[in-house]
Amino acid sequence: MSIRVGFDVDGVIANFNKTFRETAAKIEGGGGQMAADAMKRVWDHISRTAQWWLQLEAYEPDQIERLYRVSRERRWEVYFMTTRPSSAGETTQFQTQWWLEMQGFPLPAVLTVPGSRGDAANALKLDIAVDDRLTNCVDIIAACGIGVVGTLQAAIDAIEQFEEAKRQGSGRLSRLADWFKPSKHEDERLPMDARGSLGSVFPPPK
Ligand SMILES: [Mg+2]
Repeated sequence: MSIRVGFDVDGVIANFNKTFRETAAKIEGGGGQMAADAMKRVWDHISRTAQWWLQLEAYEPDQIERLYRVSRERRWEVYFMTTRPSSAGETTQFQTQWWLEMQGFPLPAVLTVPGSRGDAANALKLDIAVDDRLTNCVDIIAACGIGVVGTLQAAIDAIEQFEEAKRQGSGRLSRLADWFKPSKHEDERLPMDARGSLGSVFPPPK
């Protein structure tokens, strides 16, 4: 049984604060606390800027590639969740997907979550959710708990440990059941570059 993991994007994977501050400095001049109306002007500017979300930097670029690799190797199902407001150009979903591909995570499942993260996490039956906001974490937890880590690297480490513990804790009966599952020989799996082996989609998008 593969585990299901949800990642918040801004503040966890993408450095939203940095690019937001740079945009604010361009529009409002640098420094200090921004008043509510200045903040609104920055958000207005963002909403008018095509593909604004593509400019963001990754906190730990190599960890995004690692997440892709580990999720393929260990057969994790990964969901990226975001409540980003829209900018001009493509949808936030498409911009976020494209951005993740550029960071080395092909075919990312991006969910734009307008409402409660808890509802989304429940609907997806997530085993683990990684988020930088305590309010989202509290919204998500039902009968589990919260662990605090400082980096994306530490988060992925923790998920690997969680999966290991889950597998060991699953008991003799479920291990017996594993015998009757179809075997997962390596030659049944696709290479990391799945597009390279499957080829492009047909018919190609017009
Ligand atoms: Mg966040």
